[in-house]
Formats: sequence, C-alpha cells, structure tokens
Amino acid sequence: MSGGEPFFEFRGVYECGWNLFIKKGYSDKAEDVGVNYAYIDHLAQAGINRLIVFWANGPGYRKAWEGACGYAHERGVKLIKGLYGFCGGGPEHEMNEPGVPERLLRPSGSGAKNALCPFEPEAREWMKAALADRLYPSIDGISIEPAQEIGKNCACPRCEALLPYGWEPFAINLIAAEIKKIKGDAEIILHMHMNPDLGDARILNCAAAMRGLDAGVRHIISWGVDDDARLALYLSADRRFEHFGKLGRMRLFPGGAKPEAGTAYERAASVFDWCRASADAGKRGYVFDYRIFGGSERQGCEGRLPVTRITGRLPASLALIGMAMREPRLSRGAQREFLDGLRAECFWDIDEPELYYRGAAS
Ligand SMILES: [Zn+2]
Repeated sequence: MSGGEPFFEFRGVYECGWNLFIKKGYSDKAEDVGVNYAYIDHLAQAGINRLIVFWANGPGYRKAWEGACGYAHERGVKLIKGLYGFCGGGPEHEMNEPGVPERLLRPSGSGAKNALCPFEPEAREWMKAALADRLYPSIDGISIEPAQEIGKNCACPRCEALLPYGWEPFAINLIAAEIKKIKGDAEIILHMHMNPDLGDARILNCAAAMRGLDAGVRHIISWGVDDDARLALYLSADRRFEHFGKLGRMRLFPGGAKPEAGTAYERAASVFDWCRASADAGKRGYVFDYRIFGGSERQGCEGRLPVTRITGRLPASLALIGMAMREPRLSRGAQREFLDGLRAECFWDIDEPELYYRGAAS
C-alpha cells in the first residue's frame, strides 16, 4: 500500500439511520433513538469522512443528533442530513419531510396531498424553517432529494409548466440559497435518480438541466447508475456528477443471495474498480450506498422489522469501501493482502448477507 493522502477528498457513506442510531424498528420517538457511537468510531477507522443520513429528521432525533455531532466532529467525520425538497405528508421512511402542515399539502402525480408548491410563499417559509432545523445543532451539510425524483412534485399549472427539466433547478436553487443564508459553508449535495428505463437521454438531459444549478451544489450523486457503460457516460456528462456506488446488492451480494465460496477477492476487486473508474474520470468525491434498512433491504426479508446493525469490531465491508475511496488504484495483489488483513482483524461480514444486513445481533 502506498499510504499518503487519500485519493477522494469527499469519502462518503449514505444510510437511512439504522447504523448511526440505535433504533427500535420504525419508531422515531426520542426514547427509542440513541447514538451508535461505535459506528462513528468505525467510520473514522475506515477513513470515511462524510456520513449522509436520511429518515432521521423528525423531532425524536434531535437529542441523538446533538450527541452524534460532537462525537463525529472530534473524529473527523462530517455529518450531512438528507432532505426531501418540497414534499411531505407521511412518515419519513416512506420518503416524506416530517411535520409539513396539512394546509400546505398539494396534489402531485402520485398522491392527493404529498407535495409542497415552491411558488407558494407559505410553503417556502416552511421549507426555510425546516432547513434551519435540519442544520441543528452543527450539521455540516444537506443532501437534497428533490420531490420530482420520487414523483412527488407539485402538479399545479405553474409547476407543471416547468417540466420536464426546469422544475428541479428552480426548486433546488431556492433550497440552496436558503441553506447558504443559514450556514455559509454548508456542503450542499444533490441526489438524483438516473432511471435506467429512460436510457442515456436521461443522463444527458439531466446534465444539461443541472448546468443552471447554484454553484454551491458541488456534488451530484445519483442512483440507478449500476452498470459500467452507463457509469462511463454519467461520469463524463457533468463535472459535478459523482458516483453513488451500491455496495450490498450490487457488489458484495449480487442477486441478493449468499455468494459462492472463494469469491471475496473478486467482489472486493469490483468495489475498487468502480472507484478507479471515478478516479480516472477526474472526480474527487465518491459516495457508497451503505443502506441496510435495518436488515429489511435483504432480499426476501422486506417484511422484517428493522434493527440497528451493531458490530463490536469494524465491519470488513466498511473497511473495504473506505480503502477503495482512499486508494482506488491499489494493485490486485495489494487488494488481496488488504482483504486477508480484514479477515483477521475485522467483523467479517462480506461472505454472509445476514451478517452484512443485520450485524452481529442477528
Ligand atoms: Zn406548484
């Protein structure tokens, strides 16, 4: 291993709260939410310097964020909260901003009352107040997933007139401007869906539309870019487009099943290969999808109640993605050596989906 400066400056992991927080199922009551401090230690040990967390914006998380912020900052990990831009009206884990007043909810293409209209002054005021709350107590950034990406954008005539590619820059720029007013140095990330069903045109049209985006948005990550050919097009389409690599289902457990024995080196190599493609395309940021939905993301386990993934030692999966972001050009031989070390020292979770998705407590 070469050591030295890590390759990617922005080395992020993205999750939905069942790693960072000790939670009971879907409960978001304050008494059911604690901080999984050992996980923050593991992020730091793995060399990961950003954690993006969705589904943890309700009032029940307030105290836990206070504890997490101080602890993470002492260990060099910045915390970024996910935000649904201009939608709401249901539980967070069904992709809604929590606490939107009923009177502000408008129809979208997917529901009668699940959108906020960015043209309405009161809706903008609500969003502004929510942003101040999202940045509490010392959150380092916001990752915006705009309502249109999840089919919950307002369907009023003014909003519809901006479709298909004008609504998002408009709504995102409103949010970005407010974030900068509240916290000038906040990191602003955009989270898009490059729907594979829409082919290459989706990537190219998004790239064109996002050129009008506020310069404060420095990282654009996207889901739906999971094959090598589309990844190459995506990385070249816009300077800010960065890869959001799906770890669990795509790389460690393709097809969702327990992998064949002896394939750990090959699967680990494919994790490095994705990072290397981004490095070769000149990117300086990378984010891995480390969502586990509390174990319910594992194929065949969707109906299970989520639990926090708790591991005594650093999970090998986390150590692997951390190394791939630090040294994406590590040779195959050094990768093997690294993996052998993880097998001896870490919580070995990359041959067994149950351990990866549920932790040691499963
Ligand atoms: Zn509208």
